[in-house]
Amino acid sequence: MIEPNNNLFSIKYLRKILTKAISNNYLFLTMSEYLVHKNTSNQKLFMLRLDLDLKPERLVPIINLTKELDIPLTLFIRVSAPYNFLWYPNYEAIEFASKNKAEIGLHSNPTEWSKIIENKTSEEVFSAELEILRSKFNVDGFAPHRDMNYSFNSLPWLEQNWEIFKEKYSLKYHAYEKVFFKEFIYINEGFNPHLTWRSDNPFDKIEENQNIYMLLHPHWWHLNHPFES
Ligand SMILES: [Zn+2]
Repeated sequence: MIEPNNNLFSIKYLRKILTKAISNNYLFLTMSEYLVHKNTSNQKLFMLRLDLDLKPERLVPIINLTKELDIPLTLFIRVSAPYNFLWYPNYEAIEFASKNKAEIGLHSNPTEWSKIIENKTSEEVFSAELEILRSKFNVDGFAPHRDMNYSFNSLPWLEQNWEIFKEKYSLKYHAYEKVFFKEFIYINEGFNPHLTWRSDNPFDKIEENQNIYMLLHPHWWHLNHPFES
């Protein structure tokens, strides 16, 4: 099913995936909507998650598509990032998503920041970033960011402290909670060695009628070619 080229990850291809799920009668939910509704519907479920690692402008064509298809999604934004989410065009792209059914969460690696800068604990970094993002958006969820080329991983730290943090910082979920992995097939893209699906292809899983939790990184998805801005 996967086309044999590395230019596969286009908005046109994403449209094919999402319209296939719609025509197969999937119900799209944000992550917090899933936690509220669980399996009260007998429809198959689809959670679309975007981690905004780089290039916030790449959000715009994706949100144009999800808006047209009327799909809710969950979008994780970085505060300590190579982009500044408060820079006007970046903020406008994120706000455009937020106004069109995107639930906003924090995407961060507090352990990495703390280890590199060495003047703050992971929790201080986490709490400060949450406050900064909350100055502009309602934030209920957290997804650890990890640059796949480096070693720092904040997930073990998060899992150790999650019950306390959830309460203390009024959060509803983090993106790697077991409930999501028990009830859904996790589909994401990554390098192997070139950009591809890491394990499953969404078309096969839609055919099999599986609940789908799909993570995408907007900077890898293009309208016309992979090097557009
Ligand atoms: Zn990330």
